[in-house]
Amino acid sequence: MTRNRIAFFGLGHMGRPMASNLVRAGHDVAGYDLVEAMRDAAGKAGIAIAASPLEALSGADVVITMLPAGVHVVAAFEAAVPHLKPGTLLVDCSTVDVASARRAHEIAATAGLLSLDAPVSGGTKGAEAGTLTFMVGGSETAFASGRPLFEIMGGRVVHCGEAGTGQAAKICNNMILGVSMVGVAEAFVLAEKLGLSHEALFDVASTSSGQCWSLTSYCPVPGPVPASPANNDYRPGFATALMLKDLRLSQEAARDSGAATPMGQRAEAIYAAFDGAGHGGEDFSAIIRHLRAAPLDIPR
Ligand code: NAD
Repeated sequence: MTRNRIAFFGLGHMGRPMASNLVRAGHDVAGYDLVEAMRDAAGKAGIAIAASPLEALSGADVVITMLPAGVHVVAAFEAAVPHLKPGTLLVDCSTVDVASARRAHEIAATAGLLSLDAPVSGGTKGAEAGTLTFMVGGSETAFASGRPLFEIMGGRVVHCGEAGTGQAAKICNNMILGVSMVGVAEAFVLAEKLGLSHEALFDVASTSSGQCWSLTSYCPVPGPVPASPANNDYRPGFATALMLKDLRLSQEAARDSGAATPMGQRAEAIYAAFDGAGHGGEDFSAIIRHLRAAPLDIPR
C-alpha cells in the first residue's frame, strides 16, 4: 500500500469515522474541523488534528472534504488549491448540489489538480464499519488514484462517469427512496383503513410487484422487518432532515436540467411538511405517522 498524507476536512458524524478508518489502514491523516468540540472528539478517536487548515494541507497527497453543503465545499477547494503540490487529488465525499460539485472540479482543474465527487450511502453505521457505497464522478486517472482509499472506507465503489455524476447518482437514488417510502407508507395507511393487517400486506407485497427496499429492508411499520427503525420508535437510521436535503437537491437539479420529476416534487413537499412540524430528527420512515395523523396537512 502507498502511504498517503491525507488532509481531512469535516470531522462530523460521517467524517470522523471515515478518517479513523484511514488512520487504522496506516495512512498519515491530518484532520481539521471548524468546531473545537469536533476536533477534540476526533483527536480522542486517534486522528491527528492540525492546528489550522493550512497545517492540514501541508505536504498533502490527497485532500478529502466531508462537509454540510456545496457552498462549504467550493470555499474549501478555493482555499486549498493555492497550497497544494502538483499531482494532489481533491475528493469531496459530502452530498452537495450537482452545480457546486462541477464548480469544485473546475477549481481543481484550473489549478492543474485531479478531483473527484464521491458522495456516499450507508450512513454513520456504514462509515464506522467501512462499508459505505461510494458513487464517484471524475476522470479515469483521478478515479484510479482515489480508489484504494474508497476501498478502505467503503464496501462498494462505482465509477459513475465524468465530473458531477457521483452526485447525480446519489440524488437520483435518494429520490427513488423518498418516493418509494411515501408509497409504501401510504399502502399501509390504506390497508389499516380497509381492515387488512400489516403482516398480510407485507406477506403479499414483499413477494409481489410492490416489492422494494422501502418495504422489505426498511418497513415503516413495526413487526415484519425486525431491524427497521419502526421497531425502535423511528430513531434514525436516516433522519428526515437528511432525506429532505437530498430531495431538495434532486428538485434543484431537475429544475436546472429541465427534467420532469412530479413524484420527486411531491415527496419533497411531503417531507418538508413533516420536517416543518418538528420531526426532522426522526427516521424518514416515520412519514407514516404524518400520513396517518394529519392527512389534510399533506399538500395536494
Ligand atoms: P455533520 O454536520 O455531522 O459534519 C459536518 C462537519 O463539517 C461539522 O463538524 C462542521 O463543523 C464541519 N465543517 C463545516 N465547514 C467546515 C470547514 N470549512 N472546514 C472544516 N470543517 C467544517 O454532517 P455529517 O452527518 O457528517 O454529513 C456530512 C456530509 O455527508 C453531508 O453533506 C451529508 O449530507 C452527507 N451524508 C450524511 C449521512 C449521514 O447519515 N449523516 C449519510 C450520507 C451522506
